[in-house]
Amino acid sequence: QSFRAMWNVRRNDQHFSRTHHIFPVFYDEFQRAFKDVGDLLILMTVQGHNAAGSQNQPREHAPFASNKLPIEQGIKVFDRHILKSDVLKSKHFLHLWCAHGSVPVRAAKYSSPAKASEACGSECCLGKIYTHRMDTGLQNRVAIVAASSKGIGRATALALAAEGTKLALCARNADLLNQVAEEARTLHGVEVYTDTLDVAEDDRVRQFVEAVHHRFGRIDICVTNAGGPPAKPFAATTMADWDGAYQLNLRSIVSFAHAVLPHMQQQRWGRFIPITSVAVKQPVLELVLSNAVRTGVLGLVRSLATQYGPHNITVNNVGPGYTATDRIKDLAQANAQATGRSAAECEADLARDVPLRRLAKPEEVADAIVWLASERAAYITGQTILVDGGVYRGL
Ligand code: NAD
Repeated sequence: QSFRAMWNVRRNDQHFSRTHHIFPVFYDEFQRAFKDVGDLLILMTVQGHNAAGSQNQPREHAPFASNKLPIEQGIKVFDRHILKSDVLKSKHFLHLWCAHGSVPVRAAKYSSPAKASEACGSECCLGKIYTHRMDTGLQNRVAIVAASSKGIGRATALALAAEGTKLALCARNADLLNQVAEEARTLHGVEVYTDTLDVAEDDRVRQFVEAVHHRFGRIDICVTNAGGPPAKPFAATTMADWDGAYQLNLRSIVSFAHAVLPHMQQQRWGRFIPITSVAVKQPVLELVLSNAVRTGVLGLVRSLATQYGPHNITVNNVGPGYTATDRIKDLAQANAQATGRSAAECEADLARDVPLRRLAKPEEVADAIVWLASERAAYITGQTILVDGGVYRGL
């Protein structure tokens, strides 16, 4: 691996100098980027200073200070366990020299990963280190993420932002939504547009999409999302419940598709990604509304994939399994009422039903969405990708 940016990392941010204010971003990114790395990797760790060295830092700790030194000379390979080691917890700097050719660039002087990336070129940037293994090509793309104030929508927005994608977010709760927007701006330096709306109102969805297009000049990715319908046994459902489920979990997706696909057609590039549920493949007890209504999304996805494929637009849906968000608490509560047991017991039962024996993190669902949105998934369309820890038992 060779990198062209240098990152300075330090756990204790109270000692930051002006040039290190990017660190809080990087530390999180660092953890995330390398959490699944094998035996790699990189880097150089020393107590100390910067790539150019300083008067109290030994020269060998600044291997890229001179363009004459070959990159390899400075690289130490560490076991991944270093990530868990005290080095990160100490006040030592952890220096990661990312060099391309032999010219070091101090990414740390930029105010955000996106800015660093811009300056370094698309192939390297802070917050994108893992894209050296799989470049997502999402830098500067424009993504709508609906219902993104919490849970999986929020995680998706932040994961796309980490790739340098500009965001257009909507949800009903302005305060929560603005918090997510602020997080994306601060952590990842991306541009974010927000609007407060109910995705069941198609006029508002259309207005939102047009405003997004007006603001950014394009719409590359649209992740549709909404809350799930209430968890009830069939006999307890009312016709109003059925109408609500249709509006929220099928009709809202149609509204977004109507509004965004013409823009994607014009660009000859697009990713349309509804969030559904494992229930589209394997019905979930007490979720008859979801089981029945969401399968319509599969028909929609298949149809759109066929019709819009020639325009270089892919359409796939992501079906989360049991994911640790507020939604799962509601589901556990409903199970508790139905069985007379405690909600905590019901939540533990859900995890026991999962071959991986745990709930998903919202970020794990988001990762699948990011991949589908990326250049790396350019030849995948019309599919249902389950992120369910193996809950779906079918072939
Ligand atoms: P969540 O409750 O944590 O978040 C839902 C988000 O949708 C919130 O931001 C909420 O404000 C927003 N929202 C709800 N209704 C809306 C509306 N009418 N208009 C605009 N925004 C609206 O839920 P989550 O776990 O992130 O779930 C996201 C989707 O995935 C839901 O449809 C859910 O049913 C589905 N799902 C979740 C799980 C799970 O275990 N969490 C499993 C399968 C499917």
